[in-house]
Amino acid sequence: PGNETGPAPRLTVIGTGYLGATHAICMAVLGYDVLGVDVDPDKIERLASGEVPFFEPGLPELLAKALDSGRLRFTTSFAEAGAFGDVHFICVGTPQQKGSYAADLTYVDAAVTELARHIRGPALVVGKSTVPVGTAARLTELLHKTAPAGADAQLAWNPEFLREGYAVDDTLRPDRLVFGTTSAWAEERLRAAFAPVIAQGTPVVVTDLPTAELVKVAANSFLATKISYINAMAEVCEATGADVTGLATALSYDDRIGGRFLKPGLGFGGGCLPKDIRAFTHRAEELGVGQAVAFLREVDGINQRRRARTVDLVRELAGGALAGRRITALGAAFKPNSDDIRDAPALDVARTLHAAGAVVTVVDPAAVPNARRAYPELTYATDALAAAAGSDVVVLLTEWAQFREIDPHVMGDVVAHRRIVDGRHALDSVQWRTAGWDYRALGRP
Ligand code: NAD
Repeated sequence: PGNETGPAPRLTVIGTGYLGATHAICMAVLGYDVLGVDVDPDKIERLASGEVPFFEPGLPELLAKALDSGRLRFTTSFAEAGAFGDVHFICVGTPQQKGSYAADLTYVDAAVTELARHIRGPALVVGKSTVPVGTAARLTELLHKTAPAGADAQLAWNPEFLREGYAVDDTLRPDRLVFGTTSAWAEERLRAAFAPVIAQGTPVVVTDLPTAELVKVAANSFLATKISYINAMAEVCEATGADVTGLATALSYDDRIGGRFLKPGLGFGGGCLPKDIRAFTHRAEELGVGQAVAFLREVDGINQRRRARTVDLVRELAGGALAGRRITALGAAFKPNSDDIRDAPALDVARTLHAAGAVVTVVDPAAVPNARRAYPELTYATDALAAAAGSDVVVLLTEWAQFREIDPHVMGDVVAHRRIVDGRHALDSVQWRTAGWDYRALGRP
């Protein structure tokens, strides 16, 4: 990464969760010296010993490679971070506040404050977390107020677009880089910190701080809207006997619309989309432009109604009542190839079924440990066939490849009743119906 304009900057990554651990590991693989910092000593210990504390394809191999190279280390010490780094990436969580739509910025504030105290300068502090627009301006003040006099620290914003399940590829080969900066020096530092990525021809959008913050929430709002749009069409289909999967396929051939994120089903969840659109509506209201994004409340509402509708379908298939019915719930993670259960639609549905008196077994290839910790009242399994034995209704909630490949004849032999709700349009309805199953799906006759 270093070149004729000087040696490569040394990077710290503050907050080593899904985003930060991936960023730290990938930057070390690209050739930078990287220090990962977290307040959670257990997480730091596991990463330092070569264990990725969450499920992400390809990442464990890259962690081993980065540790072997000697370019990646981990610490809980902000003093070490301040002494080591030239460019510091802030990757801590910004969850939804309890009892409000607003983002909880206490972790971001704490990370910047702790880091600022130990900055020797000149240093660039780069926000990567998803934050309400205006946060960077506030953090700039916090940084200047807290950093030692003469430390010469600047703030920049570099929103992150990685998708869990594709995080390595998205980090090494992103669609674009967005740099929110207030000086030529900050832009030069960021270009130096991403030199190998930029050298591949990745487009770089250099802009101001508020635009950089907004790009991320605007992108997530668009994606959430696209999903809820097709799910709103599914609601209309349900009232008319139309088939939303045929509708979506026909729409997708219009390349102004496109087929991506136009998949009807149980809707979105996870640690990003739901809380990001809620924080956006809250922030827009604070700024007096709530009307401009009021539609995002509808987007959220449509998304929530899909969960309720899925429960209704299971109840209908179970003969009108859930109490005592044995339900096999296929999926816990908010999407396949992840063990992330934050705001997972699958677990929301499973818990509602359980609360209505059903006997629910949740099956997931990766997310069972996280799910069990969060919701110990549910029963868990990792093998779908074993879990389905004696089942009254099977409901597919997360479209893992393992579930798509289930043979309806084989599963049909173990269940009590051949009834399935396909919450993700992941199964071949003809194949399941031919095998004698009562197959139901959202938005389809
Ligand atoms: P996460 O909960 O997995 O990780 C956050 C980490 O920050 C945790 O390890 C926590 O211990 C640590 N932390 C908390 N306070 C700290 C402090 N004061 N100092 C140091 N570390 C601290 O969250 P995540 O999914 O990695 O998300 C982080 C941010 O990135 C959020 O703003 C999120 O919206 C954004 N983001 C996430 C993704 C994603 O796919 N996960 C994608 C793009 C953007």
